[in-house]
Amino acid sequence: MFNNLSEKLDKAFHVLKGHGQITEINVAETLKEVRRALLDADVNFKIAKEFTNKVKEKALGQNVLTSLQPGQLMVKLVKDELTELMGGDAEGINLSGTPSIILMSGLQGSGKTTFSGKLANYLKTKKTKKPLLVACDVYRPAAIDQLHVVGDQIGVDVFSDRGNTDPVAIAEAGIAYAKANGHNVVIIDTAGRLAVDEEMMNEIANVHKAIKPQETLFVVDSMTGQDAVNTAKAFNDVLNFDGVILTKLDGDTRGGAAISIKSVVTKPIKFIGTGEKMDAIDVFHPSRMAERILG
Ligand code: GDP
Repeated sequence: MFNNLSEKLDKAFHVLKGHGQITEINVAETLKEVRRALLDADVNFKIAKEFTNKVKEKALGQNVLTSLQPGQLMVKLVKDELTELMGGDAEGINLSGTPSIILMSGLQGSGKTTFSGKLANYLKTKKTKKPLLVACDVYRPAAIDQLHVVGDQIGVDVFSDRGNTDPVAIAEAGIAYAKANGHNVVIIDTAGRLAVDEEMMNEIANVHKAIKPQETLFVVDSMTGQDAVNTAKAFNDVLNFDGVILTKLDGDTRGGAAISIKSVVTKPIKFIGTGEKMDAIDVFHPSRMAERILG
C-alpha cells in the first residue's frame, strides 16, 4: 500500500540527514520533496501546498523547543499533519434506529456490493447484529445475483424483488421485511453507473429522501485518485453523506484519494476495503494510516 509515496517521503527526509538543526533552507528543500511526493501520489495541488505550508510553520516554530533530530522532527510533523488531514480520530457508524438503515452509494465497480457484504458480515460477527441486505439495483440482474451470492457466503438474508423497477419501492419493502423478520440493520445496495450522471443522482436522492437512512456511505475505489475525490464531491453535494468507504487499498494505489478526500468533502473515511474476501474490511484509523505511509 502506498509504496511509491512511502519511498519518496523517506527520500525527502534524507535531505535533513547530517544537519544538526532545522533551518529555513533545509526545511524548504525537504518540503519541496514532500510536496513532489504528494503530487505524485495524486494529491491535489492546493492540498499539497497547504500541507507543506503548515508543516513548514510548525517546523520553524518548534525548532528551539525540541530535542529531536531535524529528520525525526520532520517525520513527526508530517505524520501529525497527515493524520489531521485524513481525519483525526476514527469515527464509528451510526446504528441507532430500529432497524438502523444504511444506504450505500457510489459508482458501478467501486465495490459497493462487496462492501455491503463485508459490512453485514462485520456487524454480524463484531456487533452481534442481525443485518438484512437489500438489492436495489434495478438495471443489472447480475448485481442482484451477486448480492445473493454474497449473502449466502456470509449467512445473511438478502431481500430482492426482481420484476420491480422502482428502487424506492424495493427499499421500502426491504425495510418492512426487516421489521417483520427481526432484522435490526438494513443495508441497502444501490445501482451505480460508470460515471456521475443526473439520472443516477436523482435516483439515489429519491431513495435517500424516502427511507431517511441513519447512515449514508459513499463507496469509492482508491485506485482512481483525483477522480475519486471529484466523484465524492458530486455525491456529497446531492446526498450530504455521512462517511466514505475506500476500497481496493490492497492494490497498487498511490494514496491521493486516502489523503485528500476528507478535506475536500469534510466527511470521515470510516472503513477501508483491503481485498475481495468478506473479511477484508478494516475500520479506518487516520493515525495508523499515516504511520503506514511513513513506514
Ligand atoms: P459495485 O459495482 O460497486 O457493486 O462493485 P463490486 O462490489 O461488484 O466490486 C467490483 C470489483 O471490485 C469486484 O471484482 C470486487 O471483487 C472488487 N473489489 C471490491 N472491493 C475490493 C477490495 O477492497 N479489494 C480488491 N482487490 N478488490 C475489490
